[in-house]
Amino acid sequence: MKISPTIEPDRITSGILRVCRELVPNAPPVFVPVEPEPGALPNKCILNALETTRRDGGEVVMGWKVYLWPRVLVHLIGHAVVLRDGAMTCVTPSKNSEKRVLFLADPSLSFDDDDPDARLGGKMIPLRDDADADRFIEVDEEINSIKVKLPRTSGQVMVTGPDAVRLASLRKELPELIRRLTLRTKKPNEVCVCDSGRKFRKCCRDAMLRTGPY
Ligand SMILES: [Zn+2]
Repeated sequence: MKISPTIEPDRITSGILRVCRELVPNAPPVFVPVEPEPGALPNKCILNALETTRRDGGEVVMGWKVYLWPRVLVHLIGHAVVLRDGAMTCVTPSKNSEKRVLFLADPSLSFDDDDPDARLGGKMIPLRDDADADRFIEVDEEINSIKVKLPRTSGQVMVTGPDAVRLASLRKELPELIRRLTLRTKKPNEVCVCDSGRKFRKCCRDAMLRTGPY
């Protein structure tokens, strides 16, 4: 059972719109249909989009895939889609086989022609004043700034020295922050964060409240 505060938004809330406007003032996020190309790989959106445009024409559009921690933050992940005949399509298979993604085109982003496989960054922006959310984002950004120095196959690489110590200490902060923030993403009668389909209050909420102060 995986507990996750992250959802793919099914509508564009005023909070999402505000956060997206901060980043890209002139173009709101839009829902883009997902039509994976044969052979397209998850997490290789730029390569997939390039391959599709080479074959069928159109152009690659860079931007952000919009995820939501309801009432807490918007999580934007760098993403590329294809623009053809005036319509955008996401040609990359999504993890949960969603039929559409919320996408924010961002003309300030570009990809490296020499390395279209390069990692795209992410961004988290809080939806309201929340010291825990601010701290969580700070910790996440520092972890990423350390990880970015490592080779791409970082799973295999030993982090040593001061980086390793710092990384361990930052990671220790995460579970408690995530617990508190996850509790904020759900009202008691909403569907549980574990996706059991049960109400939050009848499923994981009590256990999450018991492990510490909220
Ligand atoms: Zn649950």
